[in-house]
Amino acid sequence: MARQFQYYSEKSDRFTWYPSVKFGKAKAPRQEGHIKRSDKWLQAKFQLFNKRYFGNSLGDCTCYFRGKPHSHYGGFCWNYGRGITVNGYYSEKRVLAILLHEMIHCEQFRTGKKADHGRWFKSRARELTILTKEKYGVVR
Ligand SMILES: [Zn+2]
Repeated sequence: MARQFQYYSEKSDRFTWYPSVKFGKAKAPRQEGHIKRSDKWLQAKFQLFNKRYFGNSLGDCTCYFRGKPHSHYGGFCWNYGRGITVNGYYSEKRVLAILLHEMIHCEQFRTGKKADHGRWFKSRARELTILTKEKYGVVR
């Protein structure tokens, strides 16, 4: 059975239905410019942030790297906040900022809020920027 996924497109700033599972782990070798961290590392960071900044409220969420160099795509929060993909062709600081950004969308799904970049999102991003001691500027 083809499962239906909905993902948030940062580029077009809206939700789009993904017709079939296209979020399989990329098999292509990582090119120059990748931060050279494993998917496990990203998953561990999710768990750490979830515990530290979200009170473990986000539950299970599959996190892994996916994306191409020079792509505008930074990250996706898909399947109603049960999956996060992050483009690894950025600096570590940027990658973690993107992860936190997607985690806010994840929280929006979990709490039944509209998953957008509205007022709630902005205030949450500001809050997280302060909570992370401005280590990762969670923008937008
Ligand atoms: Zn977003």
